[in-house]
Amino acid sequence: MKEHEQATALCSFCPKLCRYSCPVADADRNEAVTPWGKMTAMKRVEDKELPMTPETMGLAYKCLNCRASEFACEHANPVSPALDAYRVRAFKADMAPAAVAPFCEKFRRHNNPYGRDLLPVLQRRFPPAQFAGADAHTVYFPGCVEIATDIATTEKTLRLLDLPLYPEPIQCCGYPLFAAGDWQDFSELAEVNRHALNRYDRIVTGAPQCLYTMETLYRSAGHRVRARFQHVSEYLTSPGAPSLTRRGLGEVAYHDPCYLGRYRKTYEEPRRLIERVSGKPPIEFLLNREEGYCCGGGGLLPVSYPETADAITKTRVAQFRETGAELLVTSCPTCVERFRKFGVEAKSLVDYLVDADETKRKSLRRR
Ligand code: SF4
Repeated sequence: MKEHEQATALCSFCPKLCRYSCPVADADRNEAVTPWGKMTAMKRVEDKELPMTPETMGLAYKCLNCRASEFACEHANPVSPALDAYRVRAFKADMAPAAVAPFCEKFRRHNNPYGRDLLPVLQRRFPPAQFAGADAHTVYFPGCVEIATDIATTEKTLRLLDLPLYPEPIQCCGYPLFAAGDWQDFSELAEVNRHALNRYDRIVTGAPQCLYTMETLYRSAGHRVRARFQHVSEYLTSPGAPSLTRRGLGEVAYHDPCYLGRYRKTYEEPRRLIERVSGKPPIEFLLNREEGYCCGGGGLLPVSYPETADAITKTRVAQFRETGAELLVTSCPTCVERFRKFGVEAKSLVDYLVDADETKRKSLRRR
């Protein structure tokens, strides 16, 4: 906990410079859930000035892990890692928000957050030849959200990237357990997954949360994966990637997923790919790149505080409407799911690139 005490102390003496960057504070309109409010509460718990109760510890869960405040803060104070550490403490003390423990219980049944086995979904959809063999070096890892909610995107990705599908029985990277504060189960899952992942040299994924979890969080849990990780947008803009030379599509706005943008600084690759197929750069949200606004799906907020998460998604949807674009494109299956839930026509980057390809092929066939 020591490394987080300096962070909580810094916030508690600060005049709340990051107040307006936090989507949770924006949605709840409550000083207690500003980065300053949450960090000060944790410091006061630490100093034994506030009792450790489900109410006070619940504040550690009022965070999307989006890191927006860190970029607005003059000291780049790492608020979300500090709150994550307090989640671990809350979870152990059975003081997490009420929905968190049953969620983890459901997760443990199949090692994914959907409460059902996801492997048959892949096995029904793809013939054995599409799964990586013993000699595969680079594989595609779809992640549980894509498998459960958008398997067609997995199919399009394999076709576009010309890569085999990751064949091991990993149902989920475990990010939901991490965000729940269930560090023990997360760490055990990371250890099992690490052994399977270590067979490959490079793992490509469309899910930025999985990428961050497997590359960085596993390492923090002592289970470093030796493989190199790439997001599909990085893979498609690297030397030797399949070429994309399509043109003439409608206006799209690009939403920066937090785990690809602020966490990884992959801002330009998706924009370059959109421009390559459409002939023009995407329309920008007013809040973009480092200042991008979370879709509402991070930090397990849709489980712990669903109303706040929904209010945040609605704000981002309103920001999308302001762009005047016809279509929202993003590079994360969780973001796509959140936006579709609120009636937005949203596509993953790969869907957009492949559908653009298909649009071109159809028009060629018509000639
Ligand atoms: S995150 Fe930075 S700006 Fe925000 S309250 Fe903490 S120290 Fe102040």
